[in-house]
Amino acid sequence: MLKVEGLRAGYGAINILWDISFDVKEGEVVAILGSNGAGKTTMVRAITGMVRPSAGSVSFNGEELAKKSSRFILDKGIVQVPEGRQIFTEMTVLENLEMGAFNKATRAAFQQNLAVAYQRFPKLQERARQAAGTLSGGEQQMLAVARALIGMPKLLILDEPSLGLAPNIVDDILNVASEMAKKDGISVLLVEQDITKALACADRGYVVENGRIALEGTAAELSANEHVKKAYLGI
Ligand code: ATP
Repeated sequence: MLKVEGLRAGYGAINILWDISFDVKEGEVVAILGSNGAGKTTMVRAITGMVRPSAGSVSFNGEELAKKSSRFILDKGIVQVPEGRQIFTEMTVLENLEMGAFNKATRAAFQQNLAVAYQRFPKLQERARQAAGTLSGGEQQMLAVARALIGMPKLLILDEPSLGLAPNIVDDILNVASEMAKKDGISVLLVEQDITKALACADRGYVVENGRIALEGTAAELSANEHVKKAYLGI
């Protein structure tokens, strides 16, 4: 469904990503792993049209997206939960969720999708009228995921969902991500620094180092890989 080939991208004269190739199939959870500054967020930005690739291809269900606008890409069903959540803290939970309905189709299906989101995250329904800034960090992350679901993603991109959250909350969020993939056929691209947690949830993964794909494999293969163990898992 998503196929990235020979992707190069950066900021101005500085190139960050070199010859990145990977793919995500329908209903798969694919992890993009790597440490701080490896280039993971830049990869997300290049897929979602926020950074223009200087070379390579990003195709989604056979359609080339590399030179398309963020809006066009969003309309195709690639929805991201950005790093740091980017919740509107002054607005209520419900108003934040309404922001997830960004086009005619998602607005028409809003009530139905809201019911599904509330079913997945009952806390959000309890707090619907509360300012989003009063939610805990974990609840805000859930709100960010729920808002993305309102956008009816075919591919959901989660950028560092574990950031600043307690381990059990991270588990809850990643469980929801794999459930969505397995039950609803939504593909998930999970960008994570917490490699242990990401590999516990993902089907496959790619390790990014210095803007290049250094390793790829199934979650089991990567967990057993000597380099991954030494460099990232401390074992
Ligand atoms: P993190 O987990 O810290 O977000 P990351 O793997 O997502 O790390 P990126 O955010 O993609 O890494 O950053 C890769 C490199 O690109 C870094 O060296 C960073 O300083 C640089 N970079 C990121 N954003 C910009 C920008 N807007 N302008 C210039 N350089 C940037």
